[in-house]
Amino acid sequence: MSRFDLVIKNGTLVIPYTGLVQADVGVKDGRIAAIGESIAANEAETLVQARGKMVFPGAVDSHYHVGIYRPFSKDAESESRSSLVGGVTTLLSYFRTGHHYLDKSGPYREIFPQVLELSEGHFYTDYGFHLAIMTAEQLLEVDDLIDTFGVGSFKFYMFYKGLNLSADSTRGNDYTMADNYDLGHLYLLMERVSAASRKHADKGRIALSLHCENPELIRVFIERVKREGRRGLEAYSEARPPLSERLSIVEAVLLAEATRCPINLLHLSSRQALEAGIRSRREHPELDIVLETTLHHLTLTCETAGGMIGKVNPPIRGQEDINYLWEGIANGEIDTVVSDHACCMEEDKREDDLWGSLPGFGGSSLLYPTLISEGFHKRNVPLTRISEIASANPARHFGLFPRKGTLAVGADADFAVIDLHQTQAVNADLLQSAQDFTPFAGIKIKGWPTETILRGEIMMKDAKVTAKPRGRYLRRPIELHKG
Ligand SMILES: [Zn+2]
Repeated sequence: MSRFDLVIKNGTLVIPYTGLVQADVGVKDGRIAAIGESIAANEAETLVQARGKMVFPGAVDSHYHVGIYRPFSKDAESESRSSLVGGVTTLLSYFRTGHHYLDKSGPYREIFPQVLELSEGHFYTDYGFHLAIMTAEQLLEVDDLIDTFGVGSFKFYMFYKGLNLSADSTRGNDYTMADNYDLGHLYLLMERVSAASRKHADKGRIALSLHCENPELIRVFIERVKREGRRGLEAYSEARPPLSERLSIVEAVLLAEATRCPINLLHLSSRQALEAGIRSRREHPELDIVLETTLHHLTLTCETAGGMIGKVNPPIRGQEDINYLWEGIANGEIDTVVSDHACCMEEDKREDDLWGSLPGFGGSSLLYPTLISEGFHKRNVPLTRISEIASANPARHFGLFPRKGTLAVGADADFAVIDLHQTQAVNADLLQSAQDFTPFAGIKIKGWPTETILRGEIMMKDAKVTAKPRGRYLRRPIELHKG
């Protein structure tokens, strides 16, 4: 019997917070069992030859929407499979009651077990969930969701207030299926999450994620853009302008200050939004604030995103915003980069229907490739920093570190082996998602995973997925520093 189930030989390890190390890795029973200068090839059941390649920890795509627009299990299967292409081995998906997803409301103690059942056996990556607390009844479930179900993070949508009446809703008055979904509800939710974060502090971080856009400003600007009869992504950006993100961030941070609630400011799309996040952190060093951006906000402009297929909330902006977001990555202000993957079909996006087209699209297959191509090659972002924003930081901030998010003995054997020089232009087929289009089409990407390995098993090799969907549900927060 071989000493190791799998050995990765002759690669350069990219170790978060540490740097590049030339070493071999030995895997036993799904975990990293040895890291050393040289492990003999004959000690391996399976050998991965990584000469000239970089060995990253598997990416943790911490912002995902499995099942938002398509049948849940089917979406989990096709989309988590596509994530392997981008070196993703763990994904954390948002779920909420209300319109979309399972199209129902009620207590999570009834609905969440259904979500887990629909998930079982359908994920190619390990997975976990953030739950949006939509109703007064669900507020009472926060403690139980952590203790019983291992849900370590929650969500609030700042722009849903009044959405039932908004012209942006295509479905009348049943969007949230909630009563008082407003800042009062948010305050009560923050109290709960804050208390839970203190209670579980020894096990890992518990936090509240926020989609920051202000509904009153959106209403006014949508009306203005409509009156002017404007269309296209630039009009959409003006209808939901950076000012609306900024106002919403200020409101959220004020309530976080009052409740001492740890928060994640999601998908910051603009200079104004990131500046507001950075300022909040400087003004409140006592608060725990995580800043996130997405692949598309780092890459696409209103001109390049392919028209209506690039509709997403918050909207795609301009080149100046992109440059500022990359600065935020280089100087360490941005903590995590995610895909915000939400698979839909091209027919859901109609060029002549700006307001009726579905927002969102997929991009998880591009997580490491985009960061390496646009970040490392074009802007000199260090590879180690990329391993932090794509893997180690999301793992830490969502209660998974150090089981996920690093290369260390004892950690799960999740890897993305990356050829920094492999170059390919993006098209929908390459991403292997069920989505029949991509706003990233035509972008030349340099740096692709050649192997994606989950708990010691090669899931994807040379763009081919041959493994079964063996992803496991991750209860969070995992216990830190046991023993
Ligand atoms: Zn999202």
